[in-house]
Amino acid sequence: MYPESESHSPLLYKSYKQLILLGICLILMLSTGKATAAASGSTIDSVKPTTKPLKVLTSIKPLQLMVASLTAGTRTDIQVLLPPTASPHHYAMKPSDRVAVSDADLILWVGPGLEGFLSKVLGSKPDSNVMALLPKSIEADHDHDHDHDHDHDHDHDHDHDHDHDQALDPHVWLDPNQVRAALIRINDLLSELNPGEAALYKANLNRTLKALDTRLVTLKERLITAQKSARSKGFIVFHPAYDRWIRYFNLNQLGVVSIHPGQAPGAKHLAQLHQWIHSGKVTCVMIEPQYDAKRVQSMIREKAVPVVSVDPLGQSITVDGDGFLNFYETLAKGFEGCLTP
Ligand SMILES: [Zn+2]
Repeated sequence: MYPESESHSPLLYKSYKQLILLGICLILMLSTGKATAAASGSTIDSVKPTTKPLKVLTSIKPLQLMVASLTAGTRTDIQVLLPPTASPHHYAMKPSDRVAVSDADLILWVGPGLEGFLSKVLGSKPDSNVMALLPKSIEADHDHDHDHDHDHDHDHDHDHDHDHDQALDPHVWLDPNQVRAALIRINDLLSELNPGEAALYKANLNRTLKALDTRLVTLKERLITAQKSARSKGFIVFHPAYDRWIRYFNLNQLGVVSIHPGQAPGAKHLAQLHQWIHSGKVTCVMIEPQYDAKRVQSMIREKAVPVVSVDPLGQSITVDGDGFLNFYETLAKGFEGCLTP
């Protein structure tokens, strides 16, 4: 018996050991299960960061189109703040806009020189979640002028002269070189905020830059041809939005209808406009869907100068991977049509 029991006791000891181990395993499995359930119940974000789409908010449509060219195939939600008929030069934020700003993971705007209405509210967002295409502006250096913009016309004039200074011209999305640089910066930010899809962003960036370069060569050829056929004639635009575009494509802009968008042109400026139209040098006048140009239209109709609507904000363009290229294509067509009516 003894030897037998002795021979049994190590077996019994082994099975006890197995039981204890099994018990420990069970306890461990149950406890980790509980921990996982607790974690997923309370902070789902920290457990699965990639299940939620990255929320990007842009101030204006062209910036939304730029982001969309980098996010095809990724789970990125791109919203735009301004409604289609609004101009960023004089927009007042709604309470829902503030909610959209606080909900966004990344906010893209031009800067205080264009969307001044965003300056304050963006101050509460971490720097890593905000990107300005043109961080500096004359308003940022002269806050006192900015405060009085709406009360005193002369202050407004002062600001605007500087606004359309070459380097500070806030219409950066109409400058192909600035767009190229911005796309690279946007890609970096998207990849930082959503590293899981960085390879897709990068592939989209490479495809977009290549397509943009190819398209720009074609657009340049076409616009040079259009300007050549217009000879020394040129066009008038509604407000000074296209200075960067015009420099890039070497186009002949003779003047603007409204130096300060949103304000009716003054008597002196209207007289100047009349003189331009009488000169026979104007191929066409461009108006914009964001501004009511009735007065200009009635003035121009008598003189039989064509009026075309060209949208510097691309509001009718579909938001997809090719949206920005389509926006530039539509703009170029508008200028071609205006130079060779
Ligand atoms: Zn503008």
